[in-house]
Amino acid sequence: MTDQQPETSPVATWRAPGRVNLIGEHTDYNDGFTLPFAIAASCTATVRPGGDGLRAGSAQVDGEVAIPLTGLAEAPAVPDWARYVLGAAWLLRDRGVDVPPLEVTVDSDVPSGAGLSSSAAVVCSVVTALDDALGLGLAPDELLALSRAVENDVVGAPTGGMDQLASLRSREGHVLFCDMRDLAAEPVPFDLGGAGLALLVVDSRAPHAHADGEYAARRRGCEAAAAALGVPALRDVVIDDLDAALARLDGVGAEEQRRYTRHIVTEDARVLQTVELLRAGRVREIGPLLTQSHVSMRDDFRITVPEVDTAVEVLLAGGALGARMTGGGFGGCVIGLLEAEAVESAAAQVEEAFAEAGFTPPVAFTVTPGPGAHRVDG
Ligand code: ADP
Ligand code: MG
Repeated sequence: MTDQQPETSPVATWRAPGRVNLIGEHTDYNDGFTLPFAIAASCTATVRPGGDGLRAGSAQVDGEVAIPLTGLAEAPAVPDWARYVLGAAWLLRDRGVDVPPLEVTVDSDVPSGAGLSSSAAVVCSVVTALDDALGLGLAPDELLALSRAVENDVVGAPTGGMDQLASLRSREGHVLFCDMRDLAAEPVPFDLGGAGLALLVVDSRAPHAHADGEYAARRRGCEAAAAALGVPALRDVVIDDLDAALARLDGVGAEEQRRYTRHIVTEDARVLQTVELLRAGRVREIGPLLTQSHVSMRDDFRITVPEVDTAVEVLLAGGALGARMTGGGFGGCVIGLLEAEAVESAAAQVEEAFAEAGFTPPVAFTVTPGPGAHRVDG
């Protein structure tokens, strides 16, 4: 893509969604499996060639940011939000694409920092709109790589690629079975309505205290455990070999390496079991796997906080088939698999429990699997 001379078309608008991860947490950087799907909350990006330099605007942020065409290197004080918005244009220029002066504006209803991947919604809507407006004809894996590079290299956020895969490639009515080793993604039917079920998302609104440092510590611990076991990544420990692997780690690594290994290996197995059940149309039966995933994140990986544990407990006590925290942890959202008619009372019960505990009021809404990035005509 480096030596292409893009033809400029007037304006392009694309919409890209946020996502919920049904199951498979922290497995991404262990080369393992995840199962995200796109939600209705999404970001719309419009690319308008013209003017001079690169200009960014967001309906959710006051003020515009303008940088010279030569890029971010000459405008070091660019805030993060504008790096998400302009990063792709800058990277393309850096790779030799003749990006013209242009304006990129975004408008998103994905809550920021709630674990629903507002960042990937911004980046993927911009990347697809740019590809369209500049007539680049990027292949799916190039769109993915560029979206990821904006987060990793321009913003400096160490995301593993799942968020961008989900935002770009999700399909309505399906979850996306992602193999994070080779970034392959396969849609698997997820028919909640047909099973009489609903998926409730509870945004705990708990502050993400120490999330970055804790994430880095989990990542280091997983890498150390894989090294001690002599495998490229924890994904290479299959569930049948878990006990032997844990025995080998006994006395070798720190105690947390055993816990981290147990979480990752059992979580990968749970993703695979979930996929099997969904392929067989047995949606109701995934509930216990969701709950086991939460217990594993709470007790072994230790990435939950009282707010999300409370939400899970209340949902389960109220009859949810399964419930778990979704996302990187230390706050963020919980999902509950519920009978469709139980949604309202479940949400009310969580709200009540949060009030009693003195937590910030949660925000609850249902989600269904929607489409990935697509062009908006108009
Ligand atoms: P998450 O992706 O889980 O919502 P992140 O920390 O990865 O959380 O991304 C949040 C960041 O993405 C925000 O701090 C902001 O920089 C950027 N962002 C998200 N939504 C918008 C938006 N509508 N306009 C501009 N920037 C946004
Ligand atoms: Mg993000």
